[in-house]
Amino acid sequence: ALAGSASAMESNIKHRNLPDSISVATVNALYRTVGEKTHQLEMARAERNQIAAEMKSLFGGEGSKSKKSKTATNSAETMSREDKEARRQELVLRGKAVKEGIHVQEAELSALESELYERAVMIPNSTHPTSPIGPESAAQLVRLQGTPRLSPGVKAYAHPSSTGENDDEHGQALQGEASDYPLLDHVSLSKSLDLMDFESATAVTGSRWYYLKNEAALLELALIQFATQRAVQAGYMPVITPDVVRPEVVQACGFQPRDEASQTYWVSTVAPGSARASTVEGVRHHQRSALCLVATAEIALAGMNLNKVLKESQLPIKMAGFGRAFRAEAGSRGAEVKGLYRVHQFSKVELFVLSKDDQGESDRILEEIRQFQENIFEELGLCYRVLDMPTEELGASAYKKYDIEAWMPGRNGWGEISSTSNCTDYQARRLNIRYRGSKSASQRSVEDSEGGLSTTTVPSLKFVHTLNGTAMAIPRIIVALLETYQQKDGSVRLPECLWPFMGGVQTIEPKK
Ligand code: AMP
Repeated sequence: ALAGSASAMESNIKHRNLPDSISVATVNALYRTVGEKTHQLEMARAERNQIAAEMKSLFGGEGSKSKKSKTATNSAETMSREDKEARRQELVLRGKAVKEGIHVQEAELSALESELYERAVMIPNSTHPTSPIGPESAAQLVRLQGTPRLSPGVKAYAHPSSTGENDDEHGQALQGEASDYPLLDHVSLSKSLDLMDFESATAVTGSRWYYLKNEAALLELALIQFATQRAVQAGYMPVITPDVVRPEVVQACGFQPRDEASQTYWVSTVAPGSARASTVEGVRHHQRSALCLVATAEIALAGMNLNKVLKESQLPIKMAGFGRAFRAEAGSRGAEVKGLYRVHQFSKVELFVLSKDDQGESDRILEEIRQFQENIFEELGLCYRVLDMPTEELGASAYKKYDIEAWMPGRNGWGEISSTSNCTDYQARRLNIRYRGSKSASQRSVEDSEGGLSTTTVPSLKFVHTLNGTAMAIPRIIVALLETYQQKDGSVRLPECLWPFMGGVQTIEPKK
C-alpha cells in the first residue's frame, strides 16, 4: 500500500505536472479492493474444497485425513441412502454455483490486479528536497564553464530559458569571445567540409536521419573511443549493449512504450501486410513478442541485472555502455528539423551505476558522474553550463537530475548535450534488482525452540539505487565541436585530445 506518505506523493505528482489519472488515492483504493476481493475468493475456494471433501466422505471417503472430512465421514456413516442422495444433489448444486462464482471472481480480480499494477507503476519517484519546483525555465544554474564564441552583434545569457535557446529576458549578458566573421551552423559547415548527407538519408529512411561521411564518420568513432577510454580510466566497465529489448524492461525503467506520445520504435518479425500479419497467430505474436528499440543504452544496462541478487561487496557497479539510441521524437514536429541536433538515431556512450540503498552514497555518486561529464567536456574545450533540473523535467524515474548544455554558436544559444540522474530505488523495484546487505545490519530477534527470544543475523535483501549519465551523445557533440572550432578559412581545428583517435587528422579542411 502507498499509505503513510500519500499527501507528499500527491504533491510530488502535482509538482511534476503529471496527468490527473496518476493518483495515489486511486491506487490505495484499488489496493484495498484487491485485498477484499482476494479474501472473498479465498473464502469461496475454501467452500469449494469443503464441498469436495464432504462429497468424498458421502461416498466412501474413508481415506480422508482432515478433521472436517472425518466428522463428515462419521455423519455420513449414520445417514440413510435417500438422505445421502438428497445431500449429494444439494452439494452438486451448491458446488456448481460456487465454481461459477469462483470463475467470475477470478476474472474480476485479475482485471483489478492489472489495473492496480498499471496505475501503481505510473506513480513517479520522489524528488530530492533541493530540486527546483516547476517547468524547464525554473532550472537552477549550477556552474558555467568557458567563454561562448559569438558572431558579430550576438549576445549570450547565462540563465536557462524555457526553450533552451538564447533568451535576453533572463539573466545577465555573458562576456563572450566576439568573432570578426559570422559563425556558421553545422549544416552549412558540413556542406563545404563534405561531412554529412541528409538528402540521401531522407530518400533511404526519412527526415531526421543522416549519413556521416569523411572526418565526421571518423569523429564519431573517435568520440566513442575517447569517452570509453576516459570512463575505463575512471573505473567503469566497458559494455556493448543490445539495442533491442523487451517492452517490460522499457517500462520498468520509467518509460511508457505503449503511450501515444511514446518515443519508442517497435520491432516485430511479422511484416506489416504479410499473410501472417492478418492471422490470429500473427496478431498475437505482434502483441506479445514485439520488441522495442531502446531510446538509450540506460535501458539495456538497467536490465542487465534484472531479477538478480547482488552482493553488497560488488557495489557500486559502474558501467559505460556503448549503444545506439532510437527516438521517434513524437511531439517535436518542426523543432530543429535541420541537421544533427534532433535525429531519430544516434550513438551514445552511457554511464550506469548500481549503488547501495544509501541516500548519501547515491547522492555522492551523482556528483561523481557530473564531475566526470564536466571533465570530458572541459577536455574537449566546450563552453557549457550545468543546470539543476526542476520537477517537471525529471520524468518518472529521476529523483534528482543535472543537465549540461553547450554553447552552440550556430544556434546562437545553448543546446543540451548531456544529462545525469539519480533514480534511487525506482528502477530497481520494477526490475527487481536487489543485494544482500551485510549481516550486522540485519540482526533480528527470533523465538527460539523454548519460546525465548534470541538474536540471529539474517542477511537482508535491499533494492539497489540506480544512476545514469550521458558520457557522449555523438550528434550534438559534433554540432558543438564544428561550430565552436570553425576558423575564418572555413576549416575546423579539432581539440588535441581527439587527435590520437582521428588517425592523424587535426584539422578538417574544406573539400574542393
Ligand atoms: P536523454 O537520455 O534524453 O537525457 O538524452 C541524453 C542526451 O542525448 C541529450 O543530452 C542529448 O545530448 C542527446 N539527445 C537526446 N535526444 C536526441 C536526439 N533526438 N537527437 C540527437 N541527440 C539527442
